[in-house]
Amino acid sequence: MSPLDNIKPQVRAIAAYTLAARHAAIKINQNENPYEMEVRIKERALAVARERPWGRYPDFDPKELLERLARFAGWHADGMLAGNGSNELIEALLRVTVGPGTRVLIPEPTFTLYALLTKILGGEAVRVSLAADFEYDVEALLRAQNEQLPTLTVVCTPNNPTGSALASSDIERLCANTSGLVVIDEAYHEFSGVSAVPLLARYPNLVVLRTFSKAMAMAGLRLGYLMASPELAREVNKARLPYNVNFFTEAAAMAAVDEWPALKVVIDRLVVLREALRVELARIPGVKVYPSRANFFLVELGEADPKAVFEAVYRRGILVRDVTSYPRLSRCLRVSVGTEEENAALVAALREAITEVAPKAAPAGERTT
Ligand code: PMP
Repeated sequence: MSPLDNIKPQVRAIAAYTLAARHAAIKINQNENPYEMEVRIKERALAVARERPWGRYPDFDPKELLERLARFAGWHADGMLAGNGSNELIEALLRVTVGPGTRVLIPEPTFTLYALLTKILGGEAVRVSLAADFEYDVEALLRAQNEQLPTLTVVCTPNNPTGSALASSDIERLCANTSGLVVIDEAYHEFSGVSAVPLLARYPNLVVLRTFSKAMAMAGLRLGYLMASPELAREVNKARLPYNVNFFTEAAAMAAVDEWPALKVVIDRLVVLREALRVELARIPGVKVYPSRANFFLVELGEADPKAVFEAVYRRGILVRDVTSYPRLSRCLRVSVGTEEENAALVAALREAITEVAPKAAPAGERTT
């Protein structure tokens, strides 16, 4: 008997969620905010950390943080949970809902963690394909809800890695159509200008997840939050690990929330840069850009091999995301919106890379047809 025989068969059967560590002068592979948090905001968190005893645990329930987040997001503090990144809250939510025989409706392609955790927990990930243009197919989702009676329906909006969003009216239809929970992952909502939070009061089966990792420029400190009815939040809280949010992150998040107007200026700038980048990317021969409501683009390549283009762009100092292993994305790369200079460098590098790796036309004399 091998020690590996002790691992659940469904875990042995799946591929790990990995990301190769690569360094580059321009890093646009993880949809982070390229503009560093202002020193003034950092100083506020550092001042708290300097005074607070490091040897003491953080609060068992981060009450003040939850109250500040509640005011910030427009929901009740008793319906909020904070996590070490939204990943941790996705896990807690799935741990209290998914087990053998549970069905989880997950669009495809989307953020891979939902299907991965569903399988690890012994549940069944029921995949619903996005429409041909990678927009959400709400009719297909409604049909799948009726046929599969899923415990969870998961929708990331804007979606990663496509950038497509689901309208609030469609989220309502999904909530009204199921006795299961509807999980709306709003990791990129600040870039889209819309949110499902106003629906929380009307749909007690709705759960909204958010993160400080993207627009809020705090990926390195790990903070996510979940919003739901207080009854639901209390149940999810049972699976949350004790002391999951450290005091440093808590202090930084509170400073960031207080300084929201400054962060909002940066986010608005990124949205303007996104639109400018879309126009420039679309001008590159052999590139198709899908519209995006987030801070990244899905870029589809015509002739050029995406892996070769990825490497050629990397040789020019730019790290993008290779998403060719996602279903239906075998010709695609994902690029985050960077600073103005980074975006210009990306456009130039991508243009050169495509020319460099394009299959060379054979000299006229050697043509066989
Ligand atoms: N949801 C979506 C849709 C994401 O793209 C990501 C990050 N890639 C996450 C959740 C997790 O983010 P974090 O754990 O950093 O909050």
